[in-house]
Amino acid sequence: MTRTTRIITTPPGPKAQAILERDSRVLSPSYARDYGFVMDHGKGAQVWDVDGNRYIDFAAGIAVNSTGHSHPEIVKAIQEQAEKFIHISSDYYHEVMVRVAERIDEIAPMKEDVTVFLANSGTESVEAAIKLARYATGRQRFIGFLGGFHGRSMGSLSFTASKFTQQERFFPTMPGVWHVPFPDPYRPVFPIPQDGDAGDAVVDYMENVLFPEALPPEEVAAVLVEPIQGEGGYIVPAPNFFPRLRRMCDQHGILLIADEVQSGVGRTGKWWAIQHWNVEPDIVCIAKGIASGVPMGAMAARKSVGQKWKAGAHGNTYGGNPLACVSALKTIELVKNGYMQNAAAMGEYMLDALDEMQTRHPSIGQVRGRGLMVATEFVTDCATKGPVPQLRNAVIHRCFEKGLLTLGCGRCAIRFMPPLMIEKELVEEGLEIFESALSEVEGR
Ligand SMILES: *Cc1c(COP(=O)(O)O)cnc(C)c1O
Repeated sequence: MTRTTRIITTPPGPKAQAILERDSRVLSPSYARDYGFVMDHGKGAQVWDVDGNRYIDFAAGIAVNSTGHSHPEIVKAIQEQAEKFIHISSDYYHEVMVRVAERIDEIAPMKEDVTVFLANSGTESVEAAIKLARYATGRQRFIGFLGGFHGRSMGSLSFTASKFTQQERFFPTMPGVWHVPFPDPYRPVFPIPQDGDAGDAVVDYMENVLFPEALPPEEVAAVLVEPIQGEGGYIVPAPNFFPRLRRMCDQHGILLIADEVQSGVGRTGKWWAIQHWNVEPDIVCIAKGIASGVPMGAMAARKSVGQKWKAGAHGNTYGGNPLACVSALKTIELVKNGYMQNAAAMGEYMLDALDEMQTRHPSIGQVRGRGLMVATEFVTDCATKGPVPQLRNAVIHRCFEKGLLTLGCGRCAIRFMPPLMIEKELVEEGLEIFESALSEVEGR
């Protein structure tokens, strides 16, 4: 691949500036933007702004553009469907909606067959899961995790706890959600037990402190958890966590809901991140990468759970939208036929390269992730692990100015989540930009 000029005008350039100005007058200021990238078009893992600058895309629209930007087969599938019909509503039937559910049933991380509810976003897939959990169990309460992110609508927001600003001034959200610490091996909240890990510590806390002292387990409908925390910092839980959590849930009749909205559909090198621990959830929440950017969410539940609610208990207007369905079908096919394998290989390459980079940059405290869900955390020094969000923010900015799109996560991490089809040359080039941006910021 030839390396073409990346940045021709320091971004945001004049055309971008004009759009930022108009945007600020009419769009909600609640959108959190780190820098002024104004998109013109994209191809694969590269994007161009309105001033003609070229960028390598390590953000993929927040882990959404799994097959890359405007994959020709995705575009063709959407075009062909648009000419047939664009919408019919879930009051009626159509074949591609059935086919999407059949595909999800085939790839879902549970042996039992699933029933699928289709929606339009991650938060809606989570709302569907928590409503089903209440309905199916007849229980009211839930357990979530500090650092978790599950969406912004009032039900999912009651679980979301990865940033203070997501919660501030919105209470009361849905009552009955208890938050416990996530088993972060790098920054464990509880002391690690002698024959165990940070995962044992968290489950021990629930079993030995939370349940006997405050939260009757027979009132808990479900535990809602991200197999790898996304917005919270791309945190991979300690190895014992999921097996122990599954046993705890089984013991008390609590459902296990895996929020795979960010980690699912091949991103971590397996269909679902929870499969890295050989644990089966009862319900899985899906969105982001499932339809390559056409809005779609899905909630898949083990049939014995999902069949418990009756007609009219839950629904929507757009769920199963045919444009989203054909895009999802093509996405699943492409991920299955190579992109998932590529994500595993490129992810390993990226982790190795970043591990090596860490030896040259003491401000990198930890490199972590699975597949193409990778992050580096920035610290004052490796011994005290003091978080340095300012440095992180400055590196993100400098990457942008040099032609690489990245996003932050957690308190002081940068995440790398390129399209699953990314070529090795672009991974290398992106990491070069990242390291030179980091060196410049460290040298200031
Ligand atoms: C992004 C995200 C959501 C919310 O998805 P939206 O489509 O923004 O509503 C839920 N859960 C996780 C893990 C996410 O990363």
